[in-house]
Amino acid sequence: MPKFSVLIIEDEKNIQHFMSKILKRHDYRVFCADTGTGGLELIRSQCPDIVLLDLGLPDMNGDEIIRSVRTWSSIPIIVISARTAENEKVLALDLGADDYITKPFGTSELLARIRTSLRHSNRLMTDSELYIRPYRCGEMILDFSKRLLTIAGKEVHLTPIEYKIVACLAQNSGKVITYSSLLSSVWGPYADGDNKILRVNMANIRRKIEKDPAQPKYIFTEVGVGYRMAEDEDE
Ligand code: CA
Repeated sequence: MPKFSVLIIEDEKNIQHFMSKILKRHDYRVFCADTGTGGLELIRSQCPDIVLLDLGLPDMNGDEIIRSVRTWSSIPIIVISARTAENEKVLALDLGADDYITKPFGTSELLARIRTSLRHSNRLMTDSELYIRPYRCGEMILDFSKRLLTIAGKEVHLTPIEYKIVACLAQNSGKVITYSSLLSSVWGPYADGDNKILRVNMANIRRKIEKDPAQPKYIFTEVGVGYRMAEDEDE
C-alpha cells in the first residue's frame, strides 16, 4: 500500500513538529510549509492526499488558500483552528474546507479527523458502494435503501424531514456539517437560513434516538458551527 501523504501548512513550529511526528509514526508521508505561498507550491508540486491548514499564516490568510485550491482541486482540507473562533470555522467550511480540528488537540483526534476526511474523499473518487451501504454505530442502523432507522432492532419512526437530517449526517458521519449546509441539503432552495427549525427538529430526533438527549451518543452539537454524527463503525 502506498503511503498517504499529508501537507501541514502551519507557522507555529512546535505545532508543526508535533503533528509531523505523530503522522510519520503512523506511516504517513509528511510535507511541511511555514507560509501560505510555500503551502500552495507544495500542493501543486506534491499533490498531497490531504492538507492540514492553519488559518493565521504570516503571508496570507488561510481562507485565501482554501479559495484558491478549490478553483482546481477537491483535495481534503482540514483547518487547524483556535477554540473560540466559531465564525472562522464556519467561513472556512463554507469556502470548502472539509473539517476542522481545534487547538489544543490530541493524537487520536488528529488521526481520526484525517482518517474520516480521507475516507470521504476516497468515496467521492471511487464512486464506491459505501454510500449506499447502511450506516452502523452502536445499536443504530440506518438503511438508506429502505429509509429505515432501527435502534437495537426496533424501528424508529422519523418524519420525512427528520429522516433527511439524519441521513445527511450519517452519509457524512465523522465530519462536521454546518447549520447552513444542513439547511440547504434538507430544505433546498426554500431554506431561509434560520437555525431554529433545525434545532426543533434535532430536539425531536434526539428524543427518539438518544437514551439521554442531554448526553447524546449519536449526534453531537458543535457549538456555533453545526452537527457531527458519530463515525460509521464498519470501516
Ligand atoms: Ca498561525
